[in-house]
Amino acid sequence: MIVEQIWTANAYRNFNYLIACTDTGEALAVDPLDHRKCLAAAKDKGWEITQILNTHEHGDHTGGNRAMVAATNAKLLAHQNAKDTIPGMDRGLAAGDIIKVGKTVELEVLDTPGHTMTHVCLLSHTDIPALFCGDTLFNAGAGNCHHGGHPDELYETFANQLAKLPDETLVYPGHDYIVNNLGFTLDREPDNQQAQQLLQEIRDQDPGQAVVSTLGLEKIINTFLRLQSPTLIARLREAFPDLPEEPDEKTVFLRLRELRNRW
Ligand SMILES: [Zn+2]
Ligand SMILES: [Zn+2]
Repeated sequence: MIVEQIWTANAYRNFNYLIACTDTGEALAVDPLDHRKCLAAAKDKGWEITQILNTHEHGDHTGGNRAMVAATNAKLLAHQNAKDTIPGMDRGLAAGDIIKVGKTVELEVLDTPGHTMTHVCLLSHTDIPALFCGDTLFNAGAGNCHHGGHPDELYETFANQLAKLPDETLVYPGHDYIVNNLGFTLDREPDNQQAQQLLQEIRDQDPGQAVVSTLGLEKIINTFLRLQSPTLIARLREAFPDLPEEPDEKTVFLRLRELRNRW
């Protein structure tokens, strides 16, 4: 499996992806908003895009579908309940489904509601797993729930699915928000030295050559995966004086999401 991360350099800071089979050169395009860049990258590599996967129904993820299908005749895959919001779907996906790309690539579908209620992530079946997480998990952050999502479900997705993946899992999010998000981490946990160090390292990085994080790193620098941090909880109590003495993880997550909305 080869992963090509494509930086769109648009105002929304989207990342698009190509996932290719090393044997056959067949490729799946994830959220190919910038269809021109995706097509150019595929041509450059000698790959044929045969499938398109939309992680969810938002326009900054689906906006390239029509042009991509016209150029490649690729099949369009998305959450099975997104039929009314994503025109032209060829295959509806459910939890546990396997997407094959060429002969060598297997991608497992995770049903990951929260950012929207028809959001999927893909987990590769490879020696080192890779997670394509759309707008659910970001580097040092979590998706918002303003446009069709629910924070309760986002918490369940984080707690019951994403946090349980192996630490070495590579994280491929749908947007480049890492600088802002590390700022939020440090606002909540000023003593988080790894977050400080990482911010220094990546502050001026070219998003076209972005650092790829792992779930293990996210557990250190992402507040939404640090729900037991004493500093974080103490600082949260300053914003929410009614916070219980030993708040449960869900309460911490929901309050953090609320704070992030107005940060
Ligand atoms: Zn979205
Ligand atoms: Zn998005």
